[in-house]
Amino acid sequence: MKSDHDMNDFTCPKCQGQLRAGDHIVFRVRNRKKQNAILLLSPQIGNYDSVKHPSFLIEAGEPLEFSCPLCHFSLRSDIDEHLARVIMIDDQGTEVDVYFSQVSGEHTTYATRGADLHKEGEHAGKYTYFMVGGKFKKYF
Ligand SMILES: [Zn+2]
Repeated sequence: MKSDHDMNDFTCPKCQGQLRAGDHIVFRVRNRKKQNAILLLSPQIGNYDSVKHPSFLIEAGEPLEFSCPLCHFSLRSDIDEHLARVIMIDDQGTEVDVYFSQVSGEHTTYATRGADLHKEGEHAGKYTYFMVGGKFKKYF
């Protein structure tokens, strides 16, 4: 089920800066060739459309490094080097940890708050941290 996430804000866990601009979340990304670029993602959980300049090349399956465009803090999560973490603030002001895959073409998102877990994407079963029985219960 997709609920309406259009009003959600996203912030950097380090500087608390707003990553949302209009209909996008703005990231700084680095590819395997150490090239940096701006990458835009959808604020809708489960929507994996991305926007970038055509000169910035990403291969399928390439691991990227996402960082905050404001303070350049690496968003790589403590849980897994292939997952990035940002803070989502919903229209109720509730803060939720959102983890998503930094690997190109891998569609995985986890939203967690306390013991609650919501997962999206066809590859969401890959990260077993979130599959531990009883650690999280589903919400949404
Ligand atoms: Zn920041």
